[in-house]
Amino acid sequence: MTWTVHEVYDSFQVVPDDDLKPHSFFHCECHPRYVDGIFVHNAFDGREATEKPLLS
Ligand SMILES: [Zn+2]
Repeated sequence: MTWTVHEVYDSFQVVPDDDLKPHSFFHCECHPRYVDGIFVHNAFDGREATEKPLLS
């Protein structure tokens, strides 16, 4: 189970790969948290984003 960082316009979004349901970059139904300028999505399968990909 991995997470991918997507650059969306002027923001970054951390989205779980291969989740139970698709995520949207706008008004996602998982209610992403906004942390330090990054939207961190909540996985529908319950995994934790404990190992976020590094932002370069
Ligand atoms: Zn989401």
